[in-house]
Amino acid sequence: MLDAATLKNDFPILQQTVHDDVPLVYLDSAASAQKPQSVIDALSRIDSTVYANVHRGAHWLSDTSTALYEESREAIAAFIKAQKSHEVIFTTGTTGAINTVARSWGDANISAGDEILLTRLEHHSNIIPWQQLSERTGATIRWCDITEDGQLDLDDFESLLSERTKIVACTMASNVLGTYTPAKRITQLAHDAGAVVVLDAAQAVPHKSVDVTDLDADFIAFSAHKMLGPSGVGILYGKETLLEAMPPFLGGGSMIDVVSEEGFTTASLPAKFEAGTPAITPVLAFPSCIDYLRQVGMENIQQHEHALASYAHEQLEALGTINILGPHPDAKAGVVSFTVDNLHPHDLTHALDNQGVAIRAGHHCAMPLHRRLGISASARASFYVYNTREDVDKLIQAIAKAIELFS
Ligand code: PLP
Repeated sequence: MLDAATLKNDFPILQQTVHDDVPLVYLDSAASAQKPQSVIDALSRIDSTVYANVHRGAHWLSDTSTALYEESREAIAAFIKAQKSHEVIFTTGTTGAINTVARSWGDANISAGDEILLTRLEHHSNIIPWQQLSERTGATIRWCDITEDGQLDLDDFESLLSERTKIVACTMASNVLGTYTPAKRITQLAHDAGAVVVLDAAQAVPHKSVDVTDLDADFIAFSAHKMLGPSGVGILYGKETLLEAMPPFLGGGSMIDVVSEEGFTTASLPAKFEAGTPAITPVLAFPSCIDYLRQVGMENIQQHEHALASYAHEQLEALGTINILGPHPDAKAGVVSFTVDNLHPHDLTHALDNQGVAIRAGHHCAMPLHRRLGISASARASFYVYNTREDVDKLIQAIAKAIELFS
C-alpha cells in the first residue's frame, strides 16, 4: 500500500496555506496533477545544465539534450510497453495527439458515408477533432450511450459498429464519472469490424498500468501534466504501420528529409510528426515523472485511489443531499463528481475554496455527457498519490459547512 501522508511531503506546493492561512487540500488532479520536488529539480537541472535545441546543433549541449530527448522517448515507450520507441510521438498534449490522428489519419482515410463512433463519456478533446473531421469529409458521427450507472453501454456499442465504422474514439477513463471503459474489448470489437481505435488515455496512464501491446491499441493519447509532470507535452502512441502510412500533419523544421523549391520529402518516424522546436525541457523531464510513479507503483496508485473514491462515496452518501454521478467505485478511477440539492456547483466550489479545498465545478469539458445526465454542471473531486483520507474528511466537512451556509 502507498503512504500518501509521507508522499505528500514530496510536493512543495501542497505544504502551503491559501487565503491568508487556510491549509490547502488539493482535489483537482484530474485537471492537472502537482509536481514532486524530484520533477521540479529535474526541470531546473535541465535548464541549468543541458538545455539546447534538439536534433539541430553540432555542439556538446545540443548533442546531450538530443540524446536525453531520445532517452525520454525510450522511457515512455517502456512505461506503456510499446514495441518500438519511434511509435511514441511527442505532442503538445492529449489534445494535440488526438488532433494529429484526426487530421492525418482521418483526412487520408475518411470520406462521406463513413462513420466515426464516439461515446457519450468523451472529453471535448475527443469530440471536436472528430466533428471537424466530419465537417471536412461528410462522415457521420455515431454516439455510443452509457448505462444508467454511467458505464459504457457495450450492447449499444456493438449495435452501432458496422462495416461503415472507420474509426472508434473512446476514453479509457472518464474525467467526469471516473468510469473505466473496457478498452481491450472495445479495441477487439472495433478491429473485428475493420475500424481503427483511438484511446484517450489522459485519465488512465497516470493512474493505472497501461500496456499498449496487450491492448492491441492503434492510437493512444495522454499528457504529462496529469502524471506529475509539466504542461506543454503529451504523447501520441501509434502503431508503426499506421504512423508510417500517415501523411505528416504539421509542416516545418525537423519533419523533412529534403526540401526544394518544388516540394519536400518527409523524414521517417518519429520526426515526421514532430515539426518545429518541441517542448524541450518538459520532454527531458518526463522520465523523472515516470521514475516517481514507478517507485510508488502503478498498482499501489490504482488501489489507493480506489480506496479514497470508496471512502468519499460513503461519506458523501452519509451527508444525505448529495447525488453522486457515475458508477460504484469498483468500476472507476479516483474521480468523484456530484451535485448537491439546491446548491449550484459553482457556489459550492467557491465556498469550498474559501475553506482551502480545491475542487472543480462546471461541465469539465464534457457537455454532451452532462446533457445525457440531465444536468448542466457538476462538482468534481479527484484524487492522486498525495491525497489522504484526511483530505476526504476535510472535503466532507467543507461541503457540510457550505450546505449549512446556503440553507
Ligand atoms: N481527455 C481527457 C479525458 C481529459 O481529462 C483531458 C483533460 O482534462 C483531455 C483529454 C485533454 O488533455 P490536455 O488538455 O492535456 O490536452
